[in-house]
Amino acid sequence: MDRRKFSKNIMLSGLAIPVLNTGFEIDSVEPELFKEEAKKLPVRNFDVVIAGAGTAGVIAAIASARQGAKTIVIESKGYPGGTVVEGGTALHSFYNLWKAFPGVEKRQLVRGIPAELVDRLTARGGATGYAEMQRAYDYDSVCTSIDTEIYKLNAFEMLAEAGVNVCVNTFLAGVIKTGKKIKGVILESHAGREVIYAKSFVDCTGYADLAGKAGAAYLEPNDYDVVNSMGLGNVDIERYYEFLKSRNAIGQLAYGVRSGKPNQIIRIGAEGSNGYPEDFVSGARKIGMSAISTTVHDNYLMFIKINLKLPVSPTNRDEVAKAELELRKRMQKGVELFKENIPGFERAFIARTSPSLCIRRGRLITCDYDITHENVLNGDHFPDDVFVYGFHDMAPRLKVKNGGSYGIPYRALCVKGIDNLYVSGMMITSDHNAHMSTRNTVSCMGQGQASGTAAALCASKNLGSRELPYSELRKALEAGNVYFES
Ligand SMILES: Cc1cc2nc3c(=O)[nH]c(=O)nc-3n(C[C@H](O)[C@H](O)[C@H](O)COP(=O)(O)OP(=O)(O)OC[C@H]3O[C@@H](n4cnc5c(N)ncnc54)[C@H](O)[C@@H]3O)c2cc1C
Repeated sequence: MDRRKFSKNIMLSGLAIPVLNTGFEIDSVEPELFKEEAKKLPVRNFDVVIAGAGTAGVIAAIASARQGAKTIVIESKGYPGGTVVEGGTALHSFYNLWKAFPGVEKRQLVRGIPAELVDRLTARGGATGYAEMQRAYDYDSVCTSIDTEIYKLNAFEMLAEAGVNVCVNTFLAGVIKTGKKIKGVILESHAGREVIYAKSFVDCTGYADLAGKAGAAYLEPNDYDVVNSMGLGNVDIERYYEFLKSRNAIGQLAYGVRSGKPNQIIRIGAEGSNGYPEDFVSGARKIGMSAISTTVHDNYLMFIKINLKLPVSPTNRDEVAKAELELRKRMQKGVELFKENIPGFERAFIARTSPSLCIRRGRLITCDYDITHENVLNGDHFPDDVFVYGFHDMAPRLKVKNGGSYGIPYRALCVKGIDNLYVSGMMITSDHNAHMSTRNTVSCMGQGQASGTAAALCASKNLGSRELPYSELRKALEAGNVYFES
């Protein structure tokens, strides 16, 4: 009996239909598994594939294209940006922690494409530049707040200007590999599936989807809460400030350009929980809410975070689905807490949320070098540094020695066991405390410039990542205005 007749007979007999709408029969031996039919996919060829147009990926793609490589970036959302436009408070940090160390010279450690992006944003009212912290400057010396929507547009435009082929709304769904070399990736979009072949690959997906599918070794420590952060509109920031001041509770504070006017509050939060009324503190604790926030606009506070601990790693789809709902319930409770308890928020509403929850780390890929916490605190530099960095999220308790910098070595971006794959962003550094430094946005961006540049150089000469002479990479990075201290 042919398949169609068989299905029709089953339907007429009223039995369950063992046929999917694809026309394939369910395997009767292993009914819980479905064998997908092999099919031919259209192919395109590039020099470099950047997976993920987030914090690191945008910079990596621009860097690669500026080296002359035919570059494609693949992003599952409809815009570039990633967690920098969804999770954080401010961009930590382009500078060393000079304010915490009297006598130490102020130095802009991260320059190159990351600084170019922020300078362009600032010029069009989409960022505060590098506003000096007035309080808590032993945590960070400067505050760079952003307008998330202008950031997305700015990143899009810079990618286009560099000549990057930008694939948004496109998911990296598979990897084609022979031996230790990646040959291509499989993409999935509303247009269907396609294959991209390339010479060099950079995984900037945060979740390490490319490296993971390529068989790289990884850890999933599940050592952080997941988060959705909300932007609150209709907030009187000056009344909020006066309220905290009257309680002698101002913690983090920075002034900068807000809605076109200089010397306005652009970062504000209480010192610990002391500054807030008791009901607010106990309510916020129940929903994991952290109130420190930044803005570049009047009447708006950007990143009020709601945290939630998952029982398993955030790569678990079903637990994440439950968390997405729970976080949205908590966000409504959060805005009510502000309205009821804090002057200046009486008419507040949720103006923005992240389209999906954010993670601080998911999969951690094993690379040729794993940056240690001692490296960070001692301010170690390496013979293969690709940029330098000086921020630590646990300051003032833990800081880079003498307000200086440490180096990120090239090896920390090269995936162990794979010849032509780099990683950049939150997926490097297994030590939790060292990761409290390397995962920050500006570090991710610096990594992106290094990996994108290296990937393009390798592609131009058909080299594996370990065959690229460091001197060539260093020369290209210096030409790209990357700053080094040694
Ligand atoms: C709640 C929170 C608060 C934070 N606060 C700060 C802060 O105040 N200051 C600071 O400097 N840092 C902060 N961080 C850290 C920092 O924001 C992140 O570590 C950094 O942005 C991560 O950058 P990334 O490039 O690794 O990943 P992302 O920026 O997340 O980029 C990954 C991109 O890949 C895309 N993607 C994922 N999978 C696929 C796939 N299969 N196919 C195609 N595309 C895919 C994603 O959509 C995303 O755009 C915070 C992080 C969180 C979660």
